[in-house]
Amino acid sequence: MALHGPLKASIATAWMFGARLVGARPALTILYYHAVPDHLREQFARQMDILAAEAEVVFADYEGGVSAQRPLVAITFDDAFDSVARNAVPVLQARGLPATIFAPSGWLGQKPGWAMESQHDRAETVMTAGALRAIQSPLLRIGSHSVDHVQMAALAPDEAAHQAALSRSMLEEVCGKPVDEFAFPYGGLDDAAVQAVAAAGYRKAYSVMPERIGTGHAAILRGRTAVEPSDPDRLFRLKMNGAFCWMPLASRLKRSLRRKP
Ligand SMILES: [Zn+2]
Repeated sequence: MALHGPLKASIATAWMFGARLVGARPALTILYYHAVPDHLREQFARQMDILAAEAEVVFADYEGGVSAQRPLVAITFDDAFDSVARNAVPVLQARGLPATIFAPSGWLGQKPGWAMESQHDRAETVMTAGALRAIQSPLLRIGSHSVDHVQMAALAPDEAAHQAALSRSMLEEVCGKPVDEFAFPYGGLDDAAVQAVAAAGYRKAYSVMPERIGTGHAAILRGRTAVEPSDPDRLFRLKMNGAFCWMPLASRLKRSLRRKP
């Protein structure tokens, strides 16, 4: 049984309430967006206003202390679409918010030809090398999203190693600085894929499973929570406060139930 949006939001609300009751330790929550289309620019800006007012916004690889007063949140974007350069980057810059954009290095300047996470993004274009170079700043980092936007866990070990290493060197050439963070396309990963990414020299790798990341978390792999510019304020606040971190528990439970005869 798939869990639908309203049910997920209800569980997240209950989870938040429970976490407040038991005094859950503060943690880092990493959000990930895909496109930020023109008609949603104002809604995206509103979400950034909420973050600027209510959270500490840090880079996704943050490893310092965690404030007990405000949620600690990181902003990331997968696929490096033009609409992010056009509609998100100026909004982030105006508020001084840091973010990381993960680019599939073999698709720069092209329409996405991979199997899409969302059909809305079919009309997007991936930024060119020049556009990626132009948006870099101390507050805007570029990471790898593989070369071809592939399911890393489905590849042979040498192929996975190739996708990790080649995308890194291509993007370092484009950006003129180290690229050492990796976001798994489709969140498709297993232990071997994480090892391939680590062996290629990445310090941090990101999945698409929500996680509340505690202080002193040294593991290479970090979970992220999907967010859309169209999310209503209430849902956005639940996400930025890490209220969807029960989802990995639910999918583990679902997998173990499926294994039962
Ligand atoms: Zn992607």
